[in-house]
Amino acid sequence: MPPPINLPPELSALVSRFNFEHYIARKQLPSAMLLVGLSSSQAIQLAKFLIGNIFCEANGCGSCAHCHLLFEDIHPDVKLLTPVKAEKVIKIDAVRDLIQTIYQTPKKAKQQFVLISPANKMNTAAANALLKVLEEPPIHTSFILMAEQEYTLPITIRSRCQRFLVNAIAWENYWQWLSMSQEIVSPELIVELPLLVEDLCLLVKKGKSPCKVAARWGDYNPQEILTVFYTLCAQALRWRLCERQSDAYAIPELFNALSPLQWFNQLDRIKELTKKIHHNIQINFILSFETLLLGFL
Ligand SMILES: [Zn+2]
Repeated sequence: MPPPINLPPELSALVSRFNFEHYIARKQLPSAMLLVGLSSSQAIQLAKFLIGNIFCEANGCGSCAHCHLLFEDIHPDVKLLTPVKAEKVIKIDAVRDLIQTIYQTPKKAKQQFVLISPANKMNTAAANALLKVLEEPPIHTSFILMAEQEYTLPITIRSRCQRFLVNAIAWENYWQWLSMSQEIVSPELIVELPLLVEDLCLLVKKGKSPCKVAARWGDYNPQEILTVFYTLCAQALRWRLCERQSDAYAIPELFNALSPLQWFNQLDRIKELTKKIHHNIQINFILSFETLLLGFL
C-alpha cells in the first residue's frame, strides 16, 4: 500500500506556520492563494499536499482513487498551468483554454484546483485574462499561484490573492536590525520600507525607471531617505563581502545587482549628497536622487 501523503520537514513546518490545517479541516482553500518564496517543485508539492488532504476522505491516505490520480498528475479536477518548455512563457491561449474548463462542474471531486507555476511567467495578456477570472472565480474552483518572488507578479494579480510569503522578511524588525546605530528615521518611512525595497528591486531589473522611483520617494525628508539608502547600501556591501550565506535579512536580487566596488561608489555618492544637505547647499533633491538611482543601473 502506498504511504500517506507526507511532506519534507521544511514544507510541513509551513503547514502549521500558515495554519493550513484550518483550510484542510474546512476542506476548502481560499479562492485564490499565492505561495511566494518556494521553488516551483516545492510549491507544487505543498499544493498537492493541501489538495490531497482536501480531496481524500482519509486525509491524504496515498492509496485512494483521489490520491492516486493526484500523484500520477492525472486528476481531472486539478489543472496545472506551466510555461510551454520552448517558449518559457505562459501565453493567453493557455489561460483561455483553462478558463473554458473551469466553468464546468468538477469531474470526480466536489471542487477543482488550478495551479499556476511559476505564475510570473504569464505574459501581460495572459495575466489580464486570468485577472478577470480571479475577480469573479467560479464557486467550485480555487486557484493556487506560485512565484519565487512576489514583486515579479503584477500588483493587480497579487491583490486578488491571499498571500503566503514563505521567505518574507519581518519588516517590523528589519529597520531595527539594519540600523544598529539607531539612525533616526520617521516611523512613516520605516513602514514604507518594503515598498522602497521593491522599487529598488524593480529598478535594478529595469522594470521601473529612476525618474519614477525618484518621484515616488522624493517627497520624503531627503536626509531620511539618504539615511535609509546609506544603511541599505552598507548592508548590501557587507553581504557581498563577507556574510553571503548566513544573513536572513539579505535581499539577494538587490544586493547581487551591483559589484562591491559599485556599492562603494553608491555609498560615496550618498555621503556627498548628505554633506551638501548638512552644509545647507541648495540642491535639486529629486534630480540628485535620480542621479543616485542611475547608479543602480
Ligand atoms: Zn486518499
